[in-house]
Amino acid sequence: MSAPQLSVIVPAYNEEMGLAETHRRLTGVLSGMDVDYEIIYIDDGSRDRTLEIVESLRASDDHVRLLSLARNHGHQIAVTAGLDAAEGDAVVIIDADLQDPPEVIPRMYERFLEGYDVVYGKRSGREGDSAFKKGTAFAFYRLLNALTDVEIPADTGDFRLVSRRAADAVRGMREHDRYLRGMFAWIGFKQTPVEFDRDKRFAGETHYPLRRMLKLAIDGVMSFSVKPLGAIAALGAIMAGAGLLWLIILLTLLLAGSKGLGLSAIAAMMLECSGLILTALGIVGGYVGRVYQEVQNRPLYRLARREGFNDR
Ligand code: UDP
Ligand code: MG
Repeated sequence: MSAPQLSVIVPAYNEEMGLAETHRRLTGVLSGMDVDYEIIYIDDGSRDRTLEIVESLRASDDHVRLLSLARNHGHQIAVTAGLDAAEGDAVVIIDADLQDPPEVIPRMYERFLEGYDVVYGKRSGREGDSAFKKGTAFAFYRLLNALTDVEIPADTGDFRLVSRRAADAVRGMREHDRYLRGMFAWIGFKQTPVEFDRDKRFAGETHYPLRRMLKLAIDGVMSFSVKPLGAIAALGAIMAGAGLLWLIILLTLLLAGSKGLGLSAIAAMMLECSGLILTALGIVGGYVGRVYQEVQNRPLYRLARREGFNDR
């Protein structure tokens, strides 16, 4: 079996309710495209019947490949496992819940044929998302671009089509905290957006509660910027300056015969300083922790199963 023209990567965690419909819609689009394709489902350690459903899809459709991770590793690692296995000339990354409409893929493929290496889906509408999610997403992309050295396009998720060389470039980056959309922005090559309306989840519910969104946001900033470290230094310098000024004022007041400014002023300053120091330590600790994790150099994931790839 030679490498297909198009590989589609579908990470799935507890998607038993929607997966058959996803496969039906994907197949409808891909079979109309006149390309030789494969669909790689990555079961990210699901606890429901996701794995069985992929097995049954595989039994009736030989475009289907199955990767099953040994445990739940999260969306970004599941996609990475897909990227490691995909051999298509072009590779599509798409969510399993039909929030990224498969009907956009032919438009992406056209741009790829025009010579683009990364064709990313840009959300022009977010019908299915709450005002809170829209608001935090808006703020996050602005913050990220202010803090990082790579230009990460706003309002894009992981839904995209990438060329072989773009996929290989990101495959070669083995950092553990993975922020794939940033990594794809980092590699360069020719990139272009394709606009689409993000739909509601077809079935089930989101696996990205606020806690995981925050982790992704922090990974985004820390993987691409050491500016927070610089910010600490700047803050420290400002505080040292302010402290010196305060000292001069106090000394002047004392020399002028004042009885000092009371314990409350000191208590407030101590609270302020220790808070700032702990925050700074936390930020430094974040980077140190990442260094530790990279030095451990564990594999990103373990596969429990890998099927449908035949002789590849
Ligand atoms: N997903 C995954 N592993 C996880 C969480 C999510 O593979 O630990 C998959 C999930 O099945 C879906 C995609 O990643 O295909 C996006 O997840 P979700 O829809 O929950 O996120 P949202 O669209 O709400 O940001
Ligand atoms: Mg979703």
